Amino acid sequence: MCPIFKRPIFIIAILTIIGAGILAFFILRKPAEIKPIENTKNLAVVEVIGMSAEGREILSYSYLPNGEANGNGGKKIVFVGGIHGGYEWNSVLLSYQMIDYFDKYPDSIPDDLTVIIIPNANPDGVFAVTHKVGRFAIADVSTSTKILATGRFNANDVDLNRNFDCRWQATSTWQSKIVSAGTKAFSEPESLAIKNFVLKNNPSAVIFWHSKSNAVYASECEEGILPETLNIMDAYSNASGYPAIKSFDAYVITGDAEGWLASINIPAITVELKTHDTVEWSQNLAGIKAIFEYYGDKN
Ligand SMILES: [Zn+2]
Repeated sequence: MCPIFKRPIFIIAILTIIGAGILAFFILRKPAEIKPIENTKNLAVVEVIGMSAEGREILSYSYLPNGEANGNGGKKIVFVGGIHGGYEWNSVLLSYQMIDYFDKYPDSIPDDLTVIIIPNANPDGVFAVTHKVGRFAIADVSTSTKILATGRFNANDVDLNRNFDCRWQATSTWQSKIVSAGTKAFSEPESLAIKNFVLKNNPSAVIFWHSKSNAVYASECEEGILPETLNIMDAYSNASGYPAIKSFDAYVITGDAEGWLASINIPAITVELKTHDTVEWSQNLAGIKAIFEYYGDKN
């Protein structure tokens, strides 16, 4: 035996160092499920509006006019990314880019509007594709088409944009496929979170980012398209260059979020990016500014 180990003091010291090392490993280790600390310069009021089926937070980022911390921010405009999860991960990155933009240029928000971004309405679906909670990089995104398709749904394998209360049916369609729409309207915690958020905040308009149909769609339920929905569809379309389409008729959709909003008289549009892997920043910034202009002071 090495002479050093004959002295108990050295054995104790070595064991203490090893013990401290093991303790530090477990304290410093960050499991992937733990939410990383986000941009500390964020000017938004960040709130947890609900949890996903697997217990991941759904966050809203609210920008009040002129950076005021509280108070009456006038009309509320809501943007939602990622309801189709990792399958449409670019809509989540676009949302985060918008958050970074407002952090850098808070004066770009008109004085009488509150702008709220829900960057990731389906965090389980995004996690399935990126293995990240919160922000992720393009390099984190799976290249497997099978995994990307799975990431469209929440952890209960439900298409959240078929789980809202407008012509809801237990199964619905996505292209030529049959998808689960949940056990009833709002059976899924993610769609329920959006519902509760909308009912609490009563926004003037809600814009959903999807991909990749290259269009801006209006919305309707039983009562047809709201006139204001057509106005903001045209505004976003004209500014962004995405073609305006009044009604989606490629295949039958039931239980979509935009239809439910139409049913409660809230204008809603669907903005479909052109591809699954670009954020098309300048087009969407122009679209957002057109929405601001529509709802700012004049209207
Ligand atoms: Zn979609």
